[in-house]
Amino acid sequence: MIQRTLAHIAAMIHSEVSGTAQEVRITGVSTDTRSIQAGSLFVPLIGERFDAHDYVGEAMQKGAAAVLWQADHGAGPADIPHIVVTDTLLALQQLAKAYKNELAVKVIGITGSNGKTTTKDLVAAVLGSTYAVHKTKGNLNNHIGLPLTLLALEETTPFAVVEMGMSGRGEIALLSQLAEPDAAIITMIGESHMLQLGSREEIARAKAEIVAGLKPGGLLVYNGDEPLIAMALTERSAGGTTVTATDGLPANLEHVRFGRAADNDRFPTGIRMDADGAYFTINSPEYPELFVPLLGEHNVVNTLAAIAIGERFGVSPANVSAGLSSLQMTSMRIEKLTAASGLTVLNDAYNASPASMRAAITLTEQLSGFGRKFLVLGDMLELGEHEEQFHRGIGAMLSPERVDYVFTFGRLGRFIAEEAQKAFPAAHVRAYDDKAQLAEELAAAAAPEDLVLVKGSRGMRLEQVVQTLLEK
Ligand code: ATP
Ligand code: MG
Repeated sequence: MIQRTLAHIAAMIHSEVSGTAQEVRITGVSTDTRSIQAGSLFVPLIGERFDAHDYVGEAMQKGAAAVLWQADHGAGPADIPHIVVTDTLLALQQLAKAYKNELAVKVIGITGSNGKTTTKDLVAAVLGSTYAVHKTKGNLNNHIGLPLTLLALEETTPFAVVEMGMSGRGEIALLSQLAEPDAAIITMIGESHMLQLGSREEIARAKAEIVAGLKPGGLLVYNGDEPLIAMALTERSAGGTTVTATDGLPANLEHVRFGRAADNDRFPTGIRMDADGAYFTINSPEYPELFVPLLGEHNVVNTLAAIAIGERFGVSPANVSAGLSSLQMTSMRIEKLTAASGLTVLNDAYNASPASMRAAITLTEQLSGFGRKFLVLGDMLELGEHEEQFHRGIGAMLSPERVDYVFTFGRLGRFIAEEAQKAFPAAHVRAYDDKAQLAEELAAAAAPEDLVLVKGSRGMRLEQVVQTLLEK
């Protein structure tokens, strides 16, 4: 992590150290007194409900070496080494960028509606077979998390793999200009953030902003199955003029297209799904059959992006293969659990969007060797005015030939049930408003050899259902 004198830090953010603390040395940067490490520079951010300037004293008590101080808060604390800045958030971002620019690190930036964290872990696994790699911790992917991720870099680590998230236009451009990636990935375009952005076209435009900070000569790796990405990239190069053609990408933009379709630069030529992960081959004879301990075909597609990055930075096929098979996930998003009874539970209660819900359902349909298959589907939140349509769409894709029971939870989940009822025997589709009741009835209905998928938005807290199932 960053280690600099306060004088050096001040120069990096074009400010001055107050008082005589020039030679105070800081190790690391923190914005949170709950997790602060001794020796850190504490950056008090101003949120909607809290102003961390109130915690500067606490930060010092916990061992902070110095603090930033926002000028509109009056004179800085006389007895604490500090640097006065106009805006503490901007100073944090500026410091991160300046630090990164003092290092030789190569940055891989990853955005997309779904699959960012997974792909980050995959890229880190591929590069990690050959090089030391630093990666975003957990999901620290926003305008605060990204600078903190860069500031946590060790001086000599050659690669940083960073996740870039957003909820509106302009955010990815800011993150990209901050990290100035040597390579960037757009995983896919889904329907998350429909509420804020209004259309899938706008979501694609927001993700395409990742080229804004891409280094000259940098590589863009994007999902070629999604025409809207190419559309948005072409539009950018045409200066914002709306275009519909999917060809004519900026000539100077070096790129690799990946996806399921055989017209991509990298695509899978065969996939075999096992309960432990995916075995697959790709359209390059240099690679043996690859294994990745992730479930679902969508994860094979994510893996292709990581392979493209490995190829770009000189990782051998043998090391790509070794890296993938030893993947360390931030946290398993679709987690396979076994209940006390023997029942198998696929826990994907972390979050849900239409694309990730379809992917999880398809995976459940494809897994073999189980008795009956149960889906527990909760509301997908933040989808905007078409939310009902998205839920009905999920219900309409369900077939009694592929799954046996559909249990829904919540106001929107009910739309899934309404559509499913058109195809399933009446008793096989149940809509609940009471989560505990759902969990009890499901636990009573499911047998040890059965398979249950549990999936819904974070706010639905469906992990409570998983917990009940595991204990039965
Ligand atoms: P967040 O925006 O919450 O940070 P993320 O983009 O980092 O999400 P992951 O955490 O990797 O995404 O995965 C989230 C969900 O999306 C999981 O349920 C996963 O199964 C699903 N998912 C991952 N990759 C894809 C994909 N390529 N297409 C569709 N769904 C996917
Ligand atoms: Mg994520």
